[in-house]
Amino acid sequence: MRLEAVLETARDDRLYPSVILYGSNLDRRRSAAVELARVLLCERSPELRPCGECRHCSRVGSPAESFHPDFHVLERDLRTSTSAGATKSFLKNAYAAPFEARGQVFVLAEAETLTGGAADALLKLLEEPPESSPRHFMLLAGSRLDLLTTLRSRSLAVYLGPADAFDESDVAALSEAFGRSIDGFLANPSAIHLLTAAEALGRGSGWEDPRARKPWATASAAIVHYLEGVTLDAPIRRALLALAEELLDAPLMRVRGITHGRILEGLVSRHLASPT
Ligand SMILES: [Zn+2]
Repeated sequence: MRLEAVLETARDDRLYPSVILYGSNLDRRRSAAVELARVLLCERSPELRPCGECRHCSRVGSPAESFHPDFHVLERDLRTSTSAGATKSFLKNAYAAPFEARGQVFVLAEAETLTGGAADALLKLLEEPPESSPRHFMLLAGSRLDLLTTLRSRSLAVYLGPADAFDESDVAALSEAFGRSIDGFLANPSAIHLLTAAEALGRGSGWEDPRARKPWATASAAIVHYLEGVTLDAPIRRALLALAEELLDAPLMRVRGITHGRILEGLVSRHLASPT
């Protein structure tokens, strides 16, 4: 699911209690968490959330001196992990009523570093949430695959885009050409549309260098850009997001001597020929 759609769901207070915000970089993940928290805690009417001005919006994510008592962020406390002890004491807040807002937001800033015990504590809370006011949990991670399956299966995954630098100037054109082929494929599911879709993704620049990551990241960003502008059935949307994610790992295949065109064709048809 994309952030825009998630914000919309949150505006109507229909958001799943646990959300994984993954992809892009650390700053983007944090700013997405703040944006989502503002929508969840804002006191204005739903269509105006986040207003950016109310006593909740103005303090969520702002510097420590004006912190919001219902917006909690857990940072990694050890060198490479977030300990069970720190996580348990952090989650204790979820058993108390909110101080000011209509709910509480808990952000796990580096969820991929949760130890087994820390993840268990979180799971227990997700399985038996305290009643009354809503509690929202946001798990921030570079890749959702770095999180335990049990956490992933209980959370809504939101992809924020590729972490690698991509070529902004190529994205719109690639996205348009790719989108035309996908629209054609949805109207008439013939393999020729998948070939033209793959060909569209390969039109960017920078492919001469077999080790370059940028053209792959650009192609991935083009798919995400296309998804932002269309309404699609869940299976095809999931398939396109999975394709966008897998393109980021594709440079490894290229190094084995397969051309980028062949790799794109293979990945596009594998993900889209029968989306589930
Ligand atoms: Zn507000």
